[in-house]
Amino acid sequence: MAVRSMLDEMVGVGDAVLLEPLSEDNFLDNLQKRFQHDEIYTYIGNVVVSTNPYKTLPIYDAEMIEKYRGRNLYELPPHIYAVSDLAYRSMKNYGRDQCIMITGESGSGKTEASKLVMKYVAAMSSRSTEVETIKQQLLQSNPVLEAFGNARTNRNDNSSRFGKYMDIEFDFKGDPVGGLITNYLLEKSRVVRHGEGERNFHIFYQILCGASPTMLKKLKLENVENFSYIKQLDANPEDAKSFNEVLNAFDIIGFSRSEVDNVLMLVAAVLKLGNIRFKAISAKNGMDNCTITNMEEHPEVADICEMLSIKPHNLTSALTERTMTARKESVTCTLSANEASYNRDALCKEIYDRLFTWLVNRINSSIKVTTQTNKKCKVMGVLDIYGFEVFEQNGFEQFMINYCNEKLQQIFVELTLREEQEEYVKEGIEWLHIDYFNNAIICQLIESPRSGILSMLDEECLRPGDVTDATLLTKLETVCGKHEHFESRRDTRFLGDKTLPHNAFRIQHYAGKVTYVVENFIDKNNNSLFRNLSTAAFLSLHPLLGGAKGLFPEGDPLTTMLKRPPTSATQFKASMTALMKNLLMKNPNYIRCIKPNEVKRSSVFSSDLVRHQVRYLGLMENVRVRRAGYAFRQKYEDCITRYKMLSTKTWPSWHGPPKEGVKQILLKTKIDPEQYEYGKSKIFIRNPRTLFKLEEYRNAA
Ligand code: ATP
Ligand code: MG
Repeated sequence: MAVRSMLDEMVGVGDAVLLEPLSEDNFLDNLQKRFQHDEIYTYIGNVVVSTNPYKTLPIYDAEMIEKYRGRNLYELPPHIYAVSDLAYRSMKNYGRDQCIMITGESGSGKTEASKLVMKYVAAMSSRSTEVETIKQQLLQSNPVLEAFGNARTNRNDNSSRFGKYMDIEFDFKGDPVGGLITNYLLEKSRVVRHGEGERNFHIFYQILCGASPTMLKKLKLENVENFSYIKQLDANPEDAKSFNEVLNAFDIIGFSRSEVDNVLMLVAAVLKLGNIRFKAISAKNGMDNCTITNMEEHPEVADICEMLSIKPHNLTSALTERTMTARKESVTCTLSANEASYNRDALCKEIYDRLFTWLVNRINSSIKVTTQTNKKCKVMGVLDIYGFEVFEQNGFEQFMINYCNEKLQQIFVELTLREEQEEYVKEGIEWLHIDYFNNAIICQLIESPRSGILSMLDEECLRPGDVTDATLLTKLETVCGKHEHFESRRDTRFLGDKTLPHNAFRIQHYAGKVTYVVENFIDKNNNSLFRNLSTAAFLSLHPLLGGAKGLFPEGDPLTTMLKRPPTSATQFKASMTALMKNLLMKNPNYIRCIKPNEVKRSSVFSSDLVRHQVRYLGLMENVRVRRAGYAFRQKYEDCITRYKMLSTKTWPSWHGPPKEGVKQILLKTKIDPEQYEYGKSKIFIRNPRTLFKLEEYRNAA
């Protein structure tokens, strides 16, 4: 295809580096113009900006994949496939591990983008049966994890409520041989509670709408109309369809029939457990006491016990009593109806959360590179994590999610600048510093070992005595109150700010201000389940739930003096540190997703909303760095291989030093010498138009 026609066809500019003059308004106009013509991808150098089209575009089929295969970034209109191709080839041809970092706020299109990257990469490799099997397994992990880990929120109908990083492992031929998925903090509180207009995890609706009558009977769900964990159940054909896809995916990944049954049984049991109610009964010895209200009227409890293979007494006493052990003596006390409800919810959240991790591990065991096929050579990591989010009320989960987004933003900011800077220095090319906002300061506010919010949270959780969310808030206000990104009611700077509730603090994140209500921070961070519950689960004969290899190994009644489990904050911080380390070892590729409107509509481009994202994502700085530097660089050898036909001196082959060969080519083409610079090992080209020109000459040659 002639490059000229590609340029003529292009709406606006395909690379923001080419904008003249460069201004935020021009940048936005360009995105908008392109969006309105369904050109949802725009480059900033080799970073892809992707604007969610909110409609199905005919640009992802096999033909399109073929079109982008093995082509250079500037040869074709911007596309997520072009960047996937660049990453794939750079891994295959130069042996560099890659990572694809997909970032953007909730609903901006990260999960869809990650699936497109996987689709492209899968299409690149060979079609042998062995490779085909592993490819299918890798791809089919998506419907399973989305069913169990995604839900409708007020920001996105298919919002990821967990973070996912997937390493796809390749052999030297570039064929996938396996993979490894790492999951991050699932929003387990959604199991028992979801906001107005939102939903629980998809799988609950999928089972209820999609399971056959026989399966519903087996899961003891056939006659149940209402579930307290589900606010509204509309018979949705989409859910039924998705359920079949999930069953099919389970099958392809290699789950046995009984494994699938066991998984679904646990999900159904959670739903049914949610319907258990407690009522107060006359207090014995002045202690609160309660019983399960529907014990006699409903077969609910008996059903659950049968499904979970738990003795009824074990379950009911675990829910309504608590045993404390001190100095080898145990005291059992009865619980109030409220405490028992709390217990029930805690058990359900924990079963679901651990089941989710079990699923990830089970999928990993199917896709892992076995020792027999130990041909792993190079890795491509795809990161798709929950996006930055702000709800009307934000709690512990939003705090963790937004912290994670701060960390990713930091990688972007530091690497895009550091990489450029290092490369210019290494190649002996002059470098102009561009100022940018470094959000390291916000990361520190959250994670600093001594005075960060996470360590305050942990300190408070581990402190003996009367610890409450209110004492935590006071501590945060005292320790972090002066931080420029932290706002509290006590801070004189914000006194009188009526918008800040009395039980909240506010953080000025890179992407905007978020008010966090501290309610349940302590409880959610503590992350510990009362022993009675874990023991009841341990004693279950359900193949996934019970026993030492089950989901609650700590419930073994024969072991005592267990170490306190690490807090959620500690775990999350450690997993973020490990993730960052992993990402930094790989060659980064970025997909920056933009949400065009809040109404999930295909034709609406809300400029203010996009402007805000462009600002916090640091996209203008990104363009400036790119412009101040050189948009394109290529190793001299590669440049000769591609353009050797442009000079008789280099055609059909060049035997001198590669740099000299490139000089011959550029002299011949009469390209303005201002437009390029010779580095030590690479040619640096200032403007992509120069590259287009070279491509044009090449096509004409
Ligand atoms: P979260 O952080 O909440 O998980 P996300 O960034 O992963 O959000 P997605 O779930 O990928 O967002 O996208 C939200 C919705 O937008 C999708 O369900 C889909 O309807 C639409 N969408 C996103 N990208 C595309 C695309 N490339 N083509 C068509 N529709 C898209
Ligand atoms: Mg997502």
